[in-house]
Amino acid sequence: MTVRPLVYAPHPTLTQKTQRVKHIDASIHRLIQDMIETMHVENGVGLAANQIGVPLRVAVIQLPEDEEPTVLINPEVLLREGEREEDEGCLSIPGYTGRVKRSERVHVKALGIDGKSFRIKAEGGLLAEVLEHETDHLNGILYIERLVSREQLYKIDYKREEPPEDSLMTETPHLRE
Ligand SMILES: [Zn+2]
Repeated sequence: MTVRPLVYAPHPTLTQKTQRVKHIDASIHRLIQDMIETMHVENGVGLAANQIGVPLRVAVIQLPEDEEPTVLINPEVLLREGEREEDEGCLSIPGYTGRVKRSERVHVKALGIDGKSFRIKAEGGLLAEVLEHETDHLNGILYIERLVSREQLYKIDYKREEPPEDSLMTETPHLRE
């Protein structure tokens, strides 16, 4: 297993839709092992392949309470329902946190590393948020596009009253209408 270097916004791989995996072969197995290793080293709860510069539809998730990582190959969101606001950060946008709009209920369908299809139904909580965050990544969407308002992006260690540095927002292209 190898820890792979992360890519950071505004790297173009982060803002492009990733491609579906056609064959779960040895190179995909290696990619997944590296992603899990990288997620652990970076203390992330999830990682999408394009965060290490690989434009494939693969994500891994491991919440603090999970003993094993969950591997999602070709994940698709089947249902999003309800609305809530959460504070979110991203390994690809270090030093920032933002208030984002997320769903209450999120159902996702994916293939596991064994090639078998499975579904995850998450209601509220961190899992629903991470499922949306990672599937967004694979669709080329960063959380800063889901901000409750443009002002609700904060530099970590800054007080909420202080305005965010706007350099990040101006560097990040607007990709979705
Ligand atoms: Zn992220």
